[in-house]
Amino acid sequence: MNSLKQVPNILLNDGQSIPQLGFGVFQVPPLQTAEAVSEAIAAGYRHIDTAMSYANEKGVGEAVQNINDEVFVSTKYFNPDDATHGFRDAIAGFETSSKMLGQSKISLYLIHWPLSLNDRLVESWKGLVELKKSGRVPSVGVSNFEPLHLQKIIKETGVTPSVNQIELHPYFQQQTLRKIHAELGVVTEAWAPLGQGKVLQDPVLIDIGKKYGKSSAQIVLRWHIQLGNVAIPKSVKPERIRENFDIFDFELLPEDMMAIKQLDRGKRNGLDPNTYVFPKNYRISGHRIADENS
Ligand code: NAD
Repeated sequence: MNSLKQVPNILLNDGQSIPQLGFGVFQVPPLQTAEAVSEAIAAGYRHIDTAMSYANEKGVGEAVQNINDEVFVSTKYFNPDDATHGFRDAIAGFETSSKMLGQSKISLYLIHWPLSLNDRLVESWKGLVELKKSGRVPSVGVSNFEPLHLQKIIKETGVTPSVNQIELHPYFQQQTLRKIHAELGVVTEAWAPLGQGKVLQDPVLIDIGKKYGKSSAQIVLRWHIQLGNVAIPKSVKPERIRENFDIFDFELLPEDMMAIKQLDRGKRNGLDPNTYVFPKNYRISGHRIADENS
């Protein structure tokens, strides 16, 4: 097994630490999740990212329950529409996730989507702040928040999220939001750190990889680490899970960091938090099972 010392920790604004490389389980089928997470743990990952809406928290819980080392687990409050935002709802969401994971404490709890910029959003955030005060969750944060969402919850509660988990990869580098995070003391966590596989055929990344004897996926993940992002790549293939972890024995030179910076297209793969609303009848049972090669 790889040495755990290889993964740096980042200090959060609440005094807790987060392993900079984690394992994401979006679209990992519920019945395959325990196996995939066990593979990741065997490879050395000690940070797993799930969400209530992924419908696979149970599998994550099964895989981490008998591990002697501490595993950092984050999950997300599922709020498909404005009506489900709220103080009590956020706390109830946490209780459900906590049961599914089989853990009374969860390392990091996030609001999954901001949706509208209204008071219910602030109420959800107050719910997370309450959970933190009660000691059930050492760190609280958000996901897919834009600057206005961040400003609103901070202004109205005085509590700054520890993390904002956002889409971020070489084709969508989020330079403005990263700068705002740095000013606010919010750690940037990259979802789709590999651009959901779509950046990996880029000739620039492949060429850089040849120089270091690494794959384009490893180059991209190393770039995240050197930028100071937390990255949570997903795969269900054991060889890729291991490959994505094997990024702590080399360092990208400044000119290679610069070459990757030039790849930014400013274009999202995923949903735009400024415009997105969940489909009216979206429910967790609507979980889509995606083939990794599709
Ligand atoms: P990703 O960038 O991690 O890409 C995953 C895909 O890349 C895999 O399905 C596979 O096809 C390919 N891949 C992975 N490793 C590879 C390798 N070594 N070589 C070749 N191909 C490889 O995309 P993601 O899964 O969407 O994002 C990662 C995690 O981020 C998720 O699992 C989830 O935990 C989180 N996430 C959060 C949100 C949010 O709204 N907060 C949204 C999407 C994802």
